[in-house]
Amino acid sequence: MRTAEVVIAGGGVVGCALAYQLGRRGADVLLLERGQLGAESTGKCAGGVRQMFSHAANVRLQKVSLRLLQEFEVETGMDPELRQVGYLFVLTEPAQVADLRAQLRLWHAEGVTEARWVDPEEIQRLSPALNVEDVLGGTFCPSDGLASPAGVTQGYVSAARRLGARLEEGVALTGVSHNGGRVRQVETTTGPVATELLLCCAGAWSGEVGRLAGAEVPVLPYRRHVFVTGPFAAVGRRNPMTIDLSTAFYFHPEGDGVLFGMSDRDEPSSFRQEVDWAWLEQVVAVAAHRAPPLAAAGLKTAWAGLYEMTPDHQPLLGPHPNLQGFWCACGFSGHGFMQAPAVGLALAQMITGEAPAVDLSAFTPARFAAGRLESERNVI
Ligand SMILES: Cc1cc2nc3c(=O)[nH]c(=O)nc-3n(C[C@H](O)[C@H](O)[C@H](O)COP(=O)(O)OP(=O)(O)OC[C@H]3O[C@@H](n4cnc5c(N)ncnc54)[C@H](O)[C@@H]3O)c2cc1C
Repeated sequence: MRTAEVVIAGGGVVGCALAYQLGRRGADVLLLERGQLGAESTGKCAGGVRQMFSHAANVRLQKVSLRLLQEFEVETGMDPELRQVGYLFVLTEPAQVADLRAQLRLWHAEGVTEARWVDPEEIQRLSPALNVEDVLGGTFCPSDGLASPAGVTQGYVSAARRLGARLEEGVALTGVSHNGGRVRQVETTTGPVATELLLCCAGAWSGEVGRLAGAEVPVLPYRRHVFVTGPFAAVGRRNPMTIDLSTAFYFHPEGDGVLFGMSDRDEPSSFRQEVDWAWLEQVVAVAAHRAPPLAAAGLKTAWAGLYEMTPDHQPLLGPHPNLQGFWCACGFSGHGFMQAPAVGLALAQMITGEAPAVDLSAFTPARFAAGRLESERNVI
């Protein structure tokens, strides 16, 4: 029978980051991806990277992720295409103004001193396609921005393989055997593997992997759309990622066009990933008010992928409370691309007995059983 010190279920950016960081620490790693590496949520994501979160633990996590992305090419040999064009939150409700002003103090206290308050005039200058007539203000963080999900994932894959990690495509995890309350073996479509450590990095499918292990993993899938226009001069290459917090409508430059989207907060959980063109009409109706030039843009392509939501919109990171040797790195609730670098590093450090570069205790999977939520409010 094959053996592995660590089996990673799922080869999105999170699993690949962990394979690399564990490989760097000398662990014998086997990553199983049932489809293609990086082809699910990771390959469908908008590439946003920000530090403007409401929960201090997320701000700290994102400071580490940003540093790792800045060092990424030197470390892995792959350009992550980090473009620090900034993130711009646009606010239209008095309650948001009070909340984000308080968050600004948190960001400054956590060392993100470049984040600042912006008035409607500056918002208009930063993101000229916007209609700011009903905008009360906003926050802007110039060190936030965009990176390439494909580049980052491929960088981790190549670097992990150079370190001897085994990353296999077209192989699914199908079962988990345990006795004495701990993982002993996993079943896969290419045969059993003896292991005492299984990492659940299965994105929106993490609840299913949990069921295979007999452990509850509270992650639900939700469809999210992305639309991309053809060449579009009204949103320049340096335009920040712009987010209307009331509606969750957002856009950012993508090539010489624009990528935009909006979360359908009323759509129930499902694994559906086909494009719902009726939803585009609703997005365009919001765009017609918030960013009028965008409503008339010619569409080049569209797709839908899955968010992986937890009850408090925060990831599950660390050992599962009910099964020894079963660790979670899932439930990123729409932030997994930007969180993967720091999570991969800190979890690998915890697994190999090093002090983690950033404290992950807020994200322990044990929090729900203890009746604790660590809610994040800035979820798009
Ligand atoms: C439209 C959209 C926009 C987004 N925008 C952003 C953004 O701007 N910034 C950001 O940070 N995040 C964004 N996200 C969220 C981000 O894409 C995810 O949080 C992140 O990709 C999660 O990575 P992952 O590796 O956990 O999951 P995935 O990339 O989904 O990888 C999980 C993998 O597990 C595999 N798998 C499942 N079950 C099994 C099994 N039994 N055996 C083997 N393999 C299995 C799947 O095939 C899949 O490849 C967005 C998501 C969507 C859908």
